[in-house]
Amino acid sequence: LAGNDWKKQPTVVNVKDVEIGSKKVIVAAGPCAVENEEQVLTTAKAVKRAGASLLRGGAYKPRTSPYSFQGLGEEGVKILRRVGDEVGLPIVTEIMDTRDSNIFSQYVDMIQIGARNAQNFSLLKEVGKLGKPVLLKRGMGNTVEEWLQAAEYILLEGNGNTVLCERGIRTFEKSTRFTLDIGGMVAAKLMTHLPICADPSHPAGKRELVHSLALAAVAAGADMLLIEVHPHPEKALSDSEQQLTPESFEVLMNRIRTLARAL
Ligand code: PEP
Ligand code: MN
Repeated sequence: LAGNDWKKQPTVVNVKDVEIGSKKVIVAAGPCAVENEEQVLTTAKAVKRAGASLLRGGAYKPRTSPYSFQGLGEEGVKILRRVGDEVGLPIVTEIMDTRDSNIFSQYVDMIQIGARNAQNFSLLKEVGKLGKPVLLKRGMGNTVEEWLQAAEYILLEGNGNTVLCERGIRTFEKSTRFTLDIGGMVAAKLMTHLPICADPSHPAGKRELVHSLALAAVAAGADMLLIEVHPHPEKALSDSEQQLTPESFEVLMNRIRTLARAL
């Protein structure tokens, strides 16, 4: 169902009035984690002004260490919903557990499946059943084929509104946090009718690299970008090194528009 042989024309995924996979490069931006309402509101206003179309933010955080900030959970989702409504941006946030599906179907516009759950097949099936647009990250150890097979689980439940997100894979290279697989992203785009998103923030690991990776992804044909922005990145409770300031995000948005016009 995810393959080009099954459906010839590109799929456009609608998240409220935002069209992903149409002409324009859609940018989802916001903090790594929802920390409090003021932080999300400040960020949301800034990214909207700069031209973002969706507000991102993690409420249930898949942290490598159990001692790290785990996110605000349901309260975080409700903060995102309130801010999204106030500012006028649809929201995208990650689900980690099938037991939270009611919260997500009630409050969330686009449901993210994170890299660490990319092959959690019961979660993929559950999210497929919810019928909301899905942003499916590629597992950091998954081949492009495995990534498409993961999408297949969602599509098989009758939910074709799925966007694939390349977020970097594990390689031997240590100079970046993960290796953004631009080649794999382009290969995926040739194999599927689904829109492709790139997350330049997590593979970068440091904010100095985020602009270049974002622009590379746009040049390679990404339909969407997912970018972490925090009003005070140095104080962020997670992924402090890679989040952009609102000012830097605005500069990046201008660069993206200039590049997109040239393509
Ligand atoms: C995220 O986007 O918030 C996130 C946790 O990313 P990933 O699943 O790609 O690590
Ligand atoms: Mn993060």
